[in-house]
Amino acid sequence: MRKRRKLIDPKNNYNIISELVPYNSGVSRTLKDEAGYGILIGGDFANVSVLDHELYHILDHHLDNFPKTEVGKTLKYLYWAEPQAIIYQAFGIKL
Ligand SMILES: [Zn+2]
Repeated sequence: MRKRRKLIDPKNNYNIISELVPYNSGVSRTLKDEAGYGILIGGDFANVSVLDHELYHILDHHLDNFPKTEVGKTLKYLYWAEPQAIIYQAFGIKL
C-alpha cells in the first residue's frame, strides 16, 4: 500500500488503515472517522486497481469538506469525486 500511495501523494501524512475482508460483497469503500481514514476491500475486488481508486479518494481529499446537504453530497460524489477516482484507477492520471 505504501508504494501505491506514494504515486498519488508522496508527502502525504494521512493515517490510513486498510483491511482485506474475506467476503465477496462486490464493493470497496473508504471510511473516515476521528481516528483517520480506512479502506475496506474484499472478494473479487481485492486488487491493486481498486486499492488505487480508494487511495485516490482519500489522498485527493474527496472525503474532506463534504457539502452539508444530501443533494450536495450526491452531486459531489457523482460528478467530481467518483469520475476522478475512476480516471486515476484506469489511466493513472491525477486530475
Ligand atoms: Zn469511488
